[in-house]
Amino acid sequence: MLMKNKLISELKQYLSKSNILETLEERYAYAQDASNSREVVNLPDVVVFVESVEQIQSVVKLANKYKMPVVCRGAGTNVVGACRCEHGGILLNFSKMNRILEINPENMTATVEAGVILGDLQKEVDKIGLFYPPDPSNLAVSTIGGSVAQNSGGAKSFKYGTTKDYVLDMKVVMADGSILRTGSSTIKNSTGYNLNTLFVGSEGTLGIVAEVTLKLIPKPEAKKVFMAYFDTVKDAVLAVNSLIEQRIYPATIDFMDKNAIKTVEEFYPANLLTDKEAALVIEIDGFECSMDYQERIIVGVLSECRASAIQASHNDEEYEKIWKARRSSMGACAKIKPNVTTDDVIVSREKLPELVLGIREICSRYSLKVCMVGHVGDGSVHPQIPIDYSDEDEYSRYKRAKVEIYNLTGQLGGILSGEHGIGADKRDYIDKVVNSVSLDCMRQIKKTFDSNNILNPYKIF
Ligand SMILES: Cc1cc2nc3c(=O)[nH]c(=O)nc-3n(C[C@H](O)[C@H](O)[C@H](O)COP(=O)(O)OP(=O)(O)OC[C@H]3O[C@@H](n4cnc5c(N)ncnc54)[C@H](O)[C@@H]3O)c2cc1C
Repeated sequence: MLMKNKLISELKQYLSKSNILETLEERYAYAQDASNSREVVNLPDVVVFVESVEQIQSVVKLANKYKMPVVCRGAGTNVVGACRCEHGGILLNFSKMNRILEINPENMTATVEAGVILGDLQKEVDKIGLFYPPDPSNLAVSTIGGSVAQNSGGAKSFKYGTTKDYVLDMKVVMADGSILRTGSSTIKNSTGYNLNTLFVGSEGTLGIVAEVTLKLIPKPEAKKVFMAYFDTVKDAVLAVNSLIEQRIYPATIDFMDKNAIKTVEEFYPANLLTDKEAALVIEIDGFECSMDYQERIIVGVLSECRASAIQASHNDEEYEKIWKARRSSMGACAKIKPNVTTDDVIVSREKLPELVLGIREICSRYSLKVCMVGHVGDGSVHPQIPIDYSDEDEYSRYKRAKVEIYNLTGQLGGILSGEHGIGADKRDYIDKVVNSVSLDCMRQIKKTFDSNNILNPYKIF
């Protein structure tokens, strides 16, 4: 307690009073993230809003001096407990470091503070005909710092890749307060180890990201989205291969299973066809003059692949309606029971039907409802399970089903996260898919960067 009080009084030398939250209620408000865990095991000792790199350095130096954990928080929308303060400490809130520092149209780069909202950056670069593709479904609120830390993906990963493909350089505050640069603003870089890829996806455990320089690309001139319905999951997945064989490269090939289709239609009606087993959400983009040509080939291939119905967007309103339906799946699931859990498992695409049908079988055996959506082009599935945490029996069935889902994923050669990260919620299972030598190597890297284990301690492994 004494140490905590000393730390807080020293923090006040560097930060204004309004940027330090100390009361129980305030700290409680920051104890959870979107993983919505059943129990809150601990609260942050103090919540601190930073406004500059220098302030981050001062906070980290104090944390190192008092051996207090520092846990960063963007919007708190990660779904793996990555920014819960399980061991107390300082919660570093980035919502006030939200300036876009530079957009350089000639180099096609943007440099931003870590707290910039991803959707805001997309809108800004869109104004000058540029495009930042990573698009987690909640991009309207999630931050660049959080998406870098989790290596977020989204619907457009199939064609455009994930966050790691766009990070050129970062200004990172290390555990001792020094500043590390992970790269440069050049498009190519073969100058030494690639620190960008080490820090992207490190979940705030190796350093604190203050600023990020991102690669941008030219914005496609036109886009269009299709919903193609199938009577079996297998037909839906096989259709993806057929599309690619025809040299069509959609921006998105997403998936909804019958439970997801029905649940979305029940709570957010969008004229979805609820009698179908599965649907693909396919977005194409490119030059305006190529759209009819792409559409002709896509509709032809989908029909040959036994699509039993196809809906297409003909204007912005219809485009938004289809995407709203796809993005509403978790919100719709949340209306079924008081709580909802989501997951993120990924296999190579050829194994996807086995994974989807296997998850369905597991959930049915444990009497759990599951709505499945995913980025089928990448092989990634998000099983969303509505649940009542106050029902002990249901919670225990859910826990057992979760282990079986991870076992199945491992047996199919898959991994436990393609885009959400590991955080606190999946760390007990990481050894199912990452071998002990790799885990030891990760632990050594952590020690090298953070010998006092103050940066988001005990996350990932
Ligand atoms: C409804 C919903 C839909 C989603 N859809 C997708 C999706 O389609 N694809 C996808 O990939 N994800 C998705 N997610 C997960 C989530 O959006 C991403 O993980 C997101 O990018 C996290 O951003 P955030 O700002 O909320 O980060 P937070 O949750 O605040 O933090 C995430 C992690 O980043 C660390 N962190 C935050 N800022 C910094 C920093 N400056 N320096 C170092 N570490 C930092 C935190 O400590 C934590 O470990 C979804 C989540 C929800 C709730």
